[in-house]
Amino acid sequence: MGNDKCLFCRIVNGEIPAKKVYEDGDVVAFNDINPQAPTHVLIIPRRHIPSLDDVTDAEATLIGTVLARAATIARDLHLTSDGYRVVVNTGEAAGQTVFHIHFHILGGRNFGWPPG
Ligand code: AMP
Ligand code: ZN
Repeated sequence: MGNDKCLFCRIVNGEIPAKKVYEDGDVVAFNDINPQAPTHVLIIPRRHIPSLDDVTDAEATLIGTVLARAATIARDLHLTSDGYRVVVNTGEAAGQTVFHIHFHILGGRNFGWPPG
């Protein structure tokens, strides 16, 4: 299953190592290789979906599961009391560089608004 040219499918398959913080039958979460905050975890569905722009009602349950797991991971990493940010860059102008949908979970510092 998956896209053998996709970096994150290769992490899901174990072909490329990652520092996993959580995985189950639906999602994998791992530390970002270039962290932008003291805690920077990426959570992805195992299934290859290129971006949020590809999400329809058919993927709604899976994407809801990803978000629920993100909240659990944030609690487990003690991010909840101070607050944290979840980011989904969608498309090149928004900074998306890996086209397997991923949710950045960022915490451990304050974040500005609006984002850059
Ligand atoms: P985006 O720019 O929103 O597409 O986010 C892609 C993220 O993937 C960036 O924050 C990268 O630092 C991260 N990344 C790229 N390669 C790897 C890797 N091999 N392991 C972990 N994170 C990675
Ligand atoms: Zn993929």
